[in-house]
Amino acid sequence: MAKASLKEKIKQGLLLLDGAMGTQLIAGNIEAGKCSDYLNIESPDIVSNIHKAYLQAGSDAVLTNTFGANKIALARHGLAEQVEKINIAGAKIARQSILRPLRTAKDEAAGEQKYVLGDIGPSGDFLKPLGNLEPQNLKDAFVRQAEALLAGGVDGFIIETMTALDEITIAIEAVKSVCGGLPVFASFAFDRAGGDYRTMMGVDVESAVSKALSLGADAVGFNCGTATLDEYVELAQKFVSAIEALEKSRGTSHESRVTILAEPNAGKPELIDGKAVYKVSPEDFASAMEKIHSLGVNIIGGCCGTTPAHIEAIAKRLKK
Ligand SMILES: [Zn+2]
Repeated sequence: MAKASLKEKIKQGLLLLDGAMGTQLIAGNIEAGKCSDYLNIESPDIVSNIHKAYLQAGSDAVLTNTFGANKIALARHGLAEQVEKINIAGAKIARQSILRPLRTAKDEAAGEQKYVLGDIGPSGDFLKPLGNLEPQNLKDAFVRQAEALLAGGVDGFIIETMTALDEITIAIEAVKSVCGGLPVFASFAFDRAGGDYRTMMGVDVESAVSKALSLGADAVGFNCGTATLDEYVELAQKFVSAIEALEKSRGTSHESRVTILAEPNAGKPELIDGKAVYKVSPEDFASAMEKIHSLGVNIIGGCCGTTPAHIEAIAKRLKK
């Protein structure tokens, strides 16, 4: 079977992503404060083993270890000049993690249906006047990162953990300007705030959805956040309703419906000895994700605190 492009794949039904990279690295005793993206250069085996564990657990796609690999975030570690090296390496490690364990024809057929998503996180600063960033500088940062991920061989991009509309606008435009038609997913970090859901910068679900869709994102949704599992289910319903309302107002058909993405954390973190600890079990997480999928959310995965066991529990329920 020839590999379906990622754009085709997300129209076919479930696309199971991976779980956390960051909290897995911390669990593997990576020094706090260290640039985890630099592990792509320094310790590629650590990164590769995490990808492989998720692929074995049933992930259809893995996210590159490049969350903070834009020049603005890397500059905080004195690594702004390493953008290309780190992102190309990140994409190659993910690609090789898919290819390397393939020994039989059956493995190969399975490997054909796995994908690499180039991961792009926020800059960690704000645009002027709130912060120090000039729009052109921010755009350059995302263009350079996306070009390097593309050179490393990704199948698509996920712009994630975004909280500001102006930043995600620039990120989507930047990535789309160089992505060669590959799909671009846009994901916001929502918290429950005063009976509603908003990002840290005050963006509500309706604004997030309409902005991402007007910019041509292939999927829109949420990841990370500080909600409980029940609240994430409610948030997913809000995304579904917001997209339905938008389609109604535009008179677009059901077939053109954008794909929704959900990668919640493993519940609300508890602070223990100054560390965020996530206690939701794989079974409880998978049960919530089954509900979210049944609402019509087709791209599913986990953020902070989720492990290969969480992904495996989802695969058992949803991939029969
Ligand atoms: Zn997270």
